[in-house]
Amino acid sequence: MGRTSVKEQRLQYTMNRDEIKAWLLENSPKKLEELWQKADSVRQENVGEAVFLRGLIEISNICRRNCLYCGIRAGNPKPERYRMTSDELLKTATLAQNLGYGTIVMQSGEDWSPPADSAADEMAETITKIKQTTNLAVTLSLGERSEEDYRLWFEAGANRYLLRFETSNAALFQRLHPPAQHSSSGEMAENRLTLLKNLRKIGYEIGSGVMVGLPGQTWDDLARDIELFAELDLDMIGCGPFLSHPDTPLGQNNEPGIASPDQVILDEHLPFKVIALSRLVCPMANIPSTTAIATLDPRHGRLLGLSRGANVIMPNLTPTKYRKMYEIYPNKAASFESPEETHGWAVRQIEELGRTVGQGAGTSPRFLRCLDC
Ligand code: SAM
Repeated sequence: MGRTSVKEQRLQYTMNRDEIKAWLLENSPKKLEELWQKADSVRQENVGEAVFLRGLIEISNICRRNCLYCGIRAGNPKPERYRMTSDELLKTATLAQNLGYGTIVMQSGEDWSPPADSAADEMAETITKIKQTTNLAVTLSLGERSEEDYRLWFEAGANRYLLRFETSNAALFQRLHPPAQHSSSGEMAENRLTLLKNLRKIGYEIGSGVMVGLPGQTWDDLARDIELFAELDLDMIGCGPFLSHPDTPLGQNNEPGIASPDQVILDEHLPFKVIALSRLVCPMANIPSTTAIATLDPRHGRLLGLSRGANVIMPNLTPTKYRKMYEIYPNKAASFESPEETHGWAVRQIEELGRTVGQGAGTSPRFLRCLDC
């Protein structure tokens, strides 16, 4: 019997936008239990029992953008700014490998601090060194860059790129994510969907996602977001609640008129509904139970995400001295721990669930199957 193709697999669970919206608005405990169970069994059938750990390294909090939601936006004078050195990155990558990780995720603000071209080259050199000295898969989440930079980093050995489109409502996205001043590296494509398609063409596994409960986000927007995950046929889907930061325009309620009458209301179930529905529309994607979910509910958040469709967690391995400076939202989980403590927590939580820690790179089954599509 031939293998089910990615497309056939996905079609088994296809839902239209109205069905997705109905689930988002569902409040019956019995129906929700059905959703959690269905997502869990689709997860089990398509990506198995293993929970893959991704070591998150927050490599720089320097950012040229002024996103209305984000605590490390350029206009916030409070965070002391840092960029990890290549040596620090190599050391942290080696620690990740020694702790048994198969993947690191290097994330930063949109750090175009001058000279941007040499910073892109330095990043490429660091990626090459990490690939030469470890067996790690390298995921990047460095924001919007030129196609040239994306290619440079891929050729240096990067495997995956995460770029959330944040919301499928284009007008809301533009308002929340004002264009950056252009750097000497030239014009930027501002459309994250185009960037994601280009990243896929270059050869990356691609990941995207949204914030849930953004001011101005409607139920139709959120249903469309999930539909778009399937259309983009994502390898990774990372979503989490919007958490208001007091040093941002959204946190200071400085955006009159942004709320819509059909505004999404963030309740205790909504982030999990988004995970479960993402699993149903993209059965073979890697889906993390995110730090923002763990921040909202430190004891149960991660575990509930893993029981409702997620198969990945991203323990923070950033050196402790930098963690507090990467405050994209307040009270971020694990802000004061050492990498070893954060790692220990993650492993205990997986064991508590009776699941196993994934070994190796944990490449998305969707990507692996598409290599021979
Ligand atoms: N600069 C890169 C980019 O924009 O893709 C990566 C870093 S950015 C800080 C990583 C993610 O943090 C964003 O994609 C956004 O979804 C999330 N984020 C930022 N502020 C947040 C907030 N207040 N609540 C929840 N998530 C937030």
